[in-house]
Amino acid sequence: MKQQKIAILGAGPSGLAQLRAFEAARRAGVENLPEIVCYEKQNDIGGMWNYTWRTGLDKNGEPVHGSMYRYLWSNGPKECLEFADYSFDEHFGRAIPSYPPRAVLKDYIMGRIDKQAISKYIRFECPVRWVAYDESSKMFTVTVMNHKTGLQETDEFDYVVVATGHFSTPNMPYFKGLELFPGRVLHAHDFRDALEFADQNVLLVGASYSAEDIGSQCYKYGAKSVTISYRSNPIGFDWPEGMEERPLLTHVEGNIGHFSDGSTKQFDSIVMCTGYLFHFPFLPDALRLQTNNCLYPDSLYKGIFFQPNPKLIYLGMQDQYYTFNMFDAQAWYARDVIMGKIALPEAEDRLKDMQPWLERHEQLSNCNESIDFQGSYIRDLLAPTDYPEFAVEEQAELFKQWLRHKQENIMAFRENTYASTVTGTMATQLPTTWLDIKGDSLESFMSLDFIESNSLDKFD
Ligand code: FAD
Ligand code: NAP
Ligand code: MG
Repeated sequence: MKQQKIAILGAGPSGLAQLRAFEAARRAGVENLPEIVCYEKQNDIGGMWNYTWRTGLDKNGEPVHGSMYRYLWSNGPKECLEFADYSFDEHFGRAIPSYPPRAVLKDYIMGRIDKQAISKYIRFECPVRWVAYDESSKMFTVTVMNHKTGLQETDEFDYVVVATGHFSTPNMPYFKGLELFPGRVLHAHDFRDALEFADQNVLLVGASYSAEDIGSQCYKYGAKSVTISYRSNPIGFDWPEGMEERPLLTHVEGNIGHFSDGSTKQFDSIVMCTGYLFHFPFLPDALRLQTNNCLYPDSLYKGIFFQPNPKLIYLGMQDQYYTFNMFDAQAWYARDVIMGKIALPEAEDRLKDMQPWLERHEQLSNCNESIDFQGSYIRDLLAPTDYPEFAVEEQAELFKQWLRHKQENIMAFRENTYASTVTGTMATQLPTTWLDIKGDSLESFMSLDFIESNSLDKFD
């Protein structure tokens, strides 16, 4: 049999999961593995978890991928994203708190990667420019710009795995008067350092994770006031003094924001926390996933295989409660289909499989149901593969606790601790309040005096 060749586009957590899935098979002695080439736009692995101070364009003139900012801490419990085959205990050698800062999580994600084993597959500073599919040869042609050589390159593949993420291209709305607003107007994608907004009245438009977290950051680092403007529903937390929610911004006059309830307020800066566009400038219409940020894009069989052409595989394109372990479940499943261990049904049968998921997706009416939905989705993927068993449903219960803890105190939810579903280890507690811990480096975090906590549901 001819050796297959696959392209993985992107070396963030999803692309790395795909590389690792094949690496696991190689180590298990599986033969006739495909040849793999992974193209990555940045000059390192890690995707969104690589913090960059840059905004706009990178040194090669490519759009900066990173949307993460300084002082970003995990927004969900680390126990919900623990890899089944690489625990936090194994990585850190001791218990740590449940909500670590970005650098700590990045250290963990990178820790399980055998850099030497996988780096030979990755072509850095190679943004993908175009992907074409040839119906007669059933092969993809991938064209990349190799910034290291300054030349474009083209190669052919049996499968293409798109793992380029979907939180990088700003959805930027316009409100009348913005062009004359005297302060800074930016999108969350370009937000880097909350200290810039100390002593300011900051307006955030949007009412999801970015608004909630950037708002909390600004509060923590000394903004004078934070106003969150919502379009559909308020976030609804019991915000501390100085933070409030208002209905949608209608327009701006000078430095005054006008809201749909007729109220007004003066602002120094405006941050659009209005989400991201699915943007695949390297894909023709016939191959391009078109969806909004949701838990079950309607053209992906098993949430992975592009229904019109299932040799095109998308990883991590769902909205995310579960993250790293979901990417693993997807990558292991995709690997087994590529290797012929799992048969891919005909189009009609794929559709039959998708239908009940789409119907259930349509019926989802609250966060707890959404968490269970994503849990069942992962469970369905895990069954036929040899990815190590993990406690998907228990993690769903942790996610529900997380929601309750946020509701109880949005500024203190990161002080809660949970038990690992992989090792049973109870997380340690932060030595002081989250608001009081201003540093976020790996070194400063790991040198804090964490407190043993042995009650499983201390805060319930
Ligand atoms: P990404 O991490 O976005 O990686 C995609 C990769 O593809 C990048 O390396 C990029 O350079 C590359 N790429 C893009 N285009 C091209 C191209 N044309 N050619 C070649 N390469 C390309 N998740 C959590 O679990 N916990 C958190 O606390 C958390 N916080 C977040 C905070 C923010 C502000 C954002 C935006 C997301 C956060 N996430 C968090 C979710 C995050 O999306 C996932 O954790 C994870 O990074 C998704 O992995 P990915 O590989 O699918 O995408
Ligand atoms: P998102 O979840 O897609 O939410 C977008 C928000 O923008 C929604 O509230 C939406 O309102 C609003 N919106 C869109 N267009 C608008 C318009 N024209 N006017 C007003 N409001 C508009 O995007 P996100 O909040 O940026 O989150 C993206 C990802 O980043 C998530 O996966 C999240 O987990 C991650 N993240 C994590 C952290 C962390 O703490 N670690 C921090 C930030 C982000 P409607 O409801 O009306 O559509
Ligand atoms: Mg299994």
